[in-house]
Amino acid sequence: MKYILARSNIDILKQFAWSKVLLAFDYDGTLAPIVTDPAKAVMRPRTRALLDTLTERYPCVVISGRSQADAKRLLRGIGLAEVIGNHGIEPWSISRRMARETDSWRPVLEKHFAAFPGVHVENKDYSLAVHYRRSRAKKKARAEIRRVATALGRVRLIGGKQVVNILPPDAPHKGMALERERERLRCDTAIYVGDDTTDEDVFALDQPGQLLTIRVGAKSSSAAVYYLRNQRDIDRLLQKLLDLRSAPLRTSLQ
Ligand SMILES: [Mg+2]
Repeated sequence: MKYILARSNIDILKQFAWSKVLLAFDYDGTLAPIVTDPAKAVMRPRTRALLDTLTERYPCVVISGRSQADAKRLLRGIGLAEVIGNHGIEPWSISRRMARETDSWRPVLEKHFAAFPGVHVENKDYSLAVHYRRSRAKKKARAEIRRVATALGRVRLIGGKQVVNILPPDAPHKGMALERERERLRCDTAIYVGDDTTDEDVFALDQPGQLLTIRVGAKSSSAAVYYLRNQRDIDRLLQKLLDLRSAPLRTSLQ
């Protein structure tokens, strides 16, 4: 992987910034630092201000694993072209069947994990997230969540930072959501920044020249080509993208 903010990589950022580019970001661990209580995962004021200004110069979207309503709450007031929730399901791919499936899994998991300290089932209407960040036996908790989730029937499991996500088997992933947004917003290229397993679906699209993939934190097993050193580095990247389009550009969207 290559450090995107290295002087030698400025040209690649420039090329993308000057194209009809869509900027897409994951939320937790990317725009906002990871915190123990997900309800309190807010952006630093500086990140918020940079992102807000950035939306005046580029079409920007957030693609989060949170429910769309939850992600929108955290991003209120920022001029994003769209907030995609549920790892790519909301708003364009929701269906009653997905809601019904999720609804049928929830009581099974809630009942099973009621006796597990530190394990918490989050209902996101079209998918579930079983968190074990607060568990003292994380390995055991993860194995048990995966075992019980697999026994539910046809599900798609996505691991993550101390969470197991349970989705309908045919749910779109973040990579599909990004492609859809890029087409919908009539962009030719995209820059995507993410930090977790679910973001690998975007990184794996592997479209050199058209998609610039950036992972928060270098990791040899990641399909992303570039990395940021840590979450704080996002501010430097946003600033750099702002500098590359120093005046508002209002032609691409409306
Ligand atoms: Mg994340």
